Amino acid sequence: MSTDCIFCKIVKGELPCTRIYEDEDTLAFLDIGPIVKGHCLVIPKRHHDPITSMPASELQALIVAVQKVARAIEDGLQSDGLNITQANGSVAGQVVPHVHFHVIPRFTWDGHSWNWNAQSYDNTDEMAECARQICDAFKD
Ligand code: AMP
Ligand code: ZN
Repeated sequence: MSTDCIFCKIVKGELPCTRIYEDEDTLAFLDIGPIVKGHCLVIPKRHHDPITSMPASELQALIVAVQKVARAIEDGLQSDGLNITQANGSVAGQVVPHVHFHVIPRFTWDGHSWNWNAQSYDNTDEMAECARQICDAFKD
């Protein structure tokens, strides 16, 4: 637990939330600033940040809970689709530094659009070099 983390405070009951789902490791609640109404956050009860330093076993439990919440949103709100997003670092838009997945119901009428500013590689060499840098970093 991190004493000044707002999501840890929600887990401890020191701050309120509108709870959607809970198990031993995971809590899900409504985002107070929904992109679309029904937008949920799914968090590990233990404080972790960023996702890359989280133990794999705890991440597995978290992603299973994300799928449960996603199914409940689909069935309960009859959504037409879903977005599942997760940010690491302020440069990526993260505001609360406690690992969390956003599960956002999408409807044909919701009016939301992502500012997905797709770029391109200069050439295939640049693309291959980018892939090589990532591939070389894989560890056993
Ligand atoms: P991120 O930008 O990925 O860190 O997202 C943080 C999210 O937490 C935002 O969408 C906020 O609306 C949401 N949020 C912040 N404080 C609370 C809170 N007390 N209860 C519910 N959602 C919150
Ligand atoms: Zn925390």
